[in-house]
Amino acid sequence: MIRDQLHEVETRIQAACARAGRKREEVTLIAVSKTKPVEVLREAYDLGVRVFGENKVQELTEKFGALPTDIHWHMIGHLQTNKVKYIVEKAELIHSVDSLRLAQAIEKEAAKRGLTSDILVEVNVAEEKSKFGVRVNEVISFIETLAKFPHLHVCGLMTIAPFVENPEENRPIFKNLHKLSVDIAHKNIDNVNVNILSMGMTNDYEVAIEEGATMVRVGTGIFGARDYGVSG
Ligand SMILES: *Cc1c(COP(=O)(O)O)cnc(C)c1O
Repeated sequence: MIRDQLHEVETRIQAACARAGRKREEVTLIAVSKTKPVEVLREAYDLGVRVFGENKVQELTEKFGALPTDIHWHMIGHLQTNKVKYIVEKAELIHSVDSLRLAQAIEKEAAKRGLTSDILVEVNVAEEKSKFGVRVNEVISFIETLAKFPHLHVCGLMTIAPFVENPEENRPIFKNLHKLSVDIAHKNIDNVNVNILSMGMTNDYEVAIEEGATMVRVGTGIFGARDYGVSG
């Protein structure tokens, strides 16, 4: 099951890279395993998956403890400041930094442990009221502030595009995030990189790759539908 779906996703990623004239190595597939039990992640691991994305702190820490240590864990969901301490050592990249308070909390917990946290700034490109994320016109000043935090390293941008029937509808969103990253790169801000563009999910990752995504977050496309009713 997972084997076939993973293969299908991989094939589509390669095709999208080819269409865009990009190398396959430029795109990291993050297997979004939220709500899935450890055995299912183990199956993906045995098929070679080493990068997993989770959106809840408790789930990430539990799975972290239950699975091999060569897995790269990405925190992709909204993060509460009081929970930062549980994942700052476990998450290789936090995709969802969207407020100064959260950035300060990460800075503090990283400093305590003498490490630097790699983060992405979540941008609400679509300006959906229901979504987290910094507004496009506030991103540059936000990043200039974060650049001064010695234990934070801004590595790029992330967005969650709206759910749409036709993934082409999200192309302008991905284009905008890419453009924003180019604008930021031109500012040459010390301690800031914008090499990572985390955009595209099951529904629209191919379009996202065509528009420059370097990380795609695919859940359903690999693991099938999520059951929130039983396992929460
Ligand atoms: C759940 C989730 C995904 C994966 O969604 P699919 O549509 O199942 O691929 C990607 N990004 C974030 C932030 C998510 O919460």
